[in-house]
Amino acid sequence: MEGVALNDIADQFGTPCYVYSKDALSQNFMAYKNALGDRDHLICYAVKSNSNIAVLQTLAKLGAGFDIVSVGELERVLIAGGDPSKVVFSGVAKTAEEMRRALQLGIHCFNVESEAELELLNTTAGEQNLIAPVSMRVNPDVDAKTHAYISTGLKENKFGIDINLAPEIYKRAAQMDNINLVGVDYHIGSQLTDIKPFIDAMDRLLLLVDQLNDAGVQLKHIDIGGGLGVRYKNENAPSVADYMAELLPLLEGRHETLVMEPGRSVTANAGVLLMQVQFIKSNGDKNFAIVDTAMNDMLRPALYQAWMDIQPLELNSSAEEKPYDVVGPVCETGDFLAKDRSMAITAGDRLCLLSAGAYGFVMSSNYNSRTRAAEIMVDGDQAYVVRARETIADLTRGEKLLPESD
Ligand SMILES: *Cc1c(COP(=O)(O)O)cnc(C)c1O
Repeated sequence: MEGVALNDIADQFGTPCYVYSKDALSQNFMAYKNALGDRDHLICYAVKSNSNIAVLQTLAKLGAGFDIVSVGELERVLIAGGDPSKVVFSGVAKTAEEMRRALQLGIHCFNVESEAELELLNTTAGEQNLIAPVSMRVNPDVDAKTHAYISTGLKENKFGIDINLAPEIYKRAAQMDNINLVGVDYHIGSQLTDIKPFIDAMDRLLLLVDQLNDAGVQLKHIDIGGGLGVRYKNENAPSVADYMAELLPLLEGRHETLVMEPGRSVTANAGVLLMQVQFIKSNGDKNFAIVDTAMNDMLRPALYQAWMDIQPLELNSSAEEKPYDVVGPVCETGDFLAKDRSMAITAGDRLCLLSAGAYGFVMSSNYNSRTRAAEIMVDGDQAYVVRARETIADLTRGEKLLPESD
């Protein structure tokens, strides 16, 4: 990765270990900036795809804004040197406390997902004599044709406000004392490999924006969410440039700032997860590579049946090539990272799970009381620990025994 051998990183920092490339992160982010050129825009990186503060710092330095879904993510952005005035706050269940903090910091806007949230935000802002900048997240009812668990733009999903009900809610919001209507947004799903749903969503959104305009509600920005897919296997994921080439003509002559919230397309292919084979085991004609890394480190295969590429780090010429299921130590049948992959490996070999930079470490847990992996950032020929491997002491931090009684 860049100027560093992944094997050396594993030697030095151990496994399991996430490794990110600063250059790849930067290039993936800059692809958005470059595709937008002079057009008025704000790229708000979706923090939830990889929230390591060194990742956020790298993107903040390039001028990124941030799309957050909790106050925890907001605090990370601040620590990383991000600018709160470039933060959009998404999520269906913001609490009054989260709203207060974001209001005090002067974020760019709240992406409001329901009328109930709008009312709480109006009240909370009023109590502090502040005005909340608001975009309504509408649900355009388009099928993103992605995995059901990462499809968010259909009527049956919990996200956003039905686009047909939106004009009424905008009108009500316009009457509220502590709400300032600044925009409209959607996010129709993740890992989209077809541009058409994005275009359909924009067509529907522009009808709404024009309708609102006629009713006297003028919006300053249009936020198209994230969701652009990446290549894990053989997907033909469109490039950012392809996507913008189809989208931008729809916005020609319009004054609204274009806001977007890319996550996966910035981080996924900027990171890998290194692991070591602990044992090789055969049950009849099934071969298992039992590794030191598990679903608690990388949940995507278990949660989404995601296919992720896995490769031996070094050629092993003494091993025979066989199909392996790569499984971890966690006591769940769902604990696998890859199935039926042909590899020539023996115990002690290291494997590299590719495209692991998005929805990887951020979804990790301590299930089975496993300490969470280290995170390393490579910059040129240097490798930096950007999160230390957890220790056994970390595992019980905050826990308390009951008082002894006799
Ligand atoms: C998750 C999410 C994103 C980022 O999605 P990607 O598929 O990672 O690009 C953007 N906006 C919202 C509201 C999200 O929930």
